[in-house]
Amino acid sequence: LLENALDAKAQHITIVLKDAGRTLIQVVDDGLGMTREDARTSVEQHATSKLSDIDDLESLATYGFRGEALAAIASVSQFEMRTRPRDQELGTLLEVEGSVFRKCEAVACDEGTTISVRNLFFNIPARRKFMKSEATEFKHVVDCVTKAALAHIEVHFIFVSDGEIIFDLPSFVPLPERIEQIFGSRLRGALLPVESVTPSLHVHGFISAPSFVKRVRTEQFFFINQRPVQSRSLSWAVASAYEHLVEKGAFPSVFLSITIDPSEIDVNVHPQKLEVKFADERSVTEEVRRALQDTLARATMASANTGALAPEMVLPEAINAGASA
Ligand code: ADP
Ligand code: MG
Repeated sequence: LLENALDAKAQHITIVLKDAGRTLIQVVDDGLGMTREDARTSVEQHATSKLSDIDDLESLATYGFRGEALAAIASVSQFEMRTRPRDQELGTLLEVEGSVFRKCEAVACDEGTTISVRNLFFNIPARRKFMKSEATEFKHVVDCVTKAALAHIEVHFIFVSDGEIIFDLPSFVPLPERIEQIFGSRLRGALLPVESVTPSLHVHGFISAPSFVKRVRTEQFFFINQRPVQSRSLSWAVASAYEHLVEKGAFPSVFLSITIDPSEIDVNVHPQKLEVKFADERSVTEEVRRALQDTLARATMASANTGALAPEMVLPEAINAGASA
């Protein structure tokens, strides 16, 4: 749902959960909206507006193009859509319950699309029973929203769970500020910029100084053409760049975006299009590693030259210890 809202060029997206999504998952966007006809067909299987020409397959820049998400969701929930394109006075209210059309009628609504998914798996008790604990389901959603928010600083995200605001992330702030809003100010103080441009590749983002590391790898984010991905090669490039700088089992925080010609990547090796393969794995990996090493070398030199403590070493405890010594 989030991907669809982003594909529809939304500038404001609100995600509302009740009971970690079990009772309600709602995504409100102010994007392009749909006509009545498009709204109706969007919930049918293999409905997609993203392929008008077979050449599009090569250069497809949007998220999904299987045209199955809405149909699948509507088949296992009480599904409601309110949608209105900018140039139309009235919108459409569509209700589907477990694939059965209940309603399709004109309605006054805001521009954009609001999709409400109620009682997920209400018609498949076995699946409903086997949903993960609320804490786990909630963590998955936080992860999803976090990745979207890191990839799209041009979008204002609001995330509300059981009436509590989890995130309220204004748009067009610099990435470090958004990182701080999500992960806290300590990490922000340790961020080092990465920037490298070659004819085929643009690598940019932020990584943490080697002294700011975690015991888990969960704070490593990779984006290719603004799409969150996993890539063994990119993870390897990070591990390799930090190799002699951090202990084994310690992981730096990484927020790395790669811009590359879409025909140079294959996003379909993974069923959920998460794991990406590059046409030229080796040179991409090498280029990313070099960019990271440059950043780390510059940071080491800068702190050696000024003789200053690395910012992450100025912990309150250290200052207090120094003052009382
Ligand atoms: P896909 O995204 O793979 O095309 P989906 O089932 O996710 O398939 O969506 C089907 C179609 O419905 C999309 O191609 C798009 O045209 C339309 N659509 C879905 N969500 C939105 C939205 N939030 N705003 C505008 N159009 C949407
Ligand atoms: Mg989609």
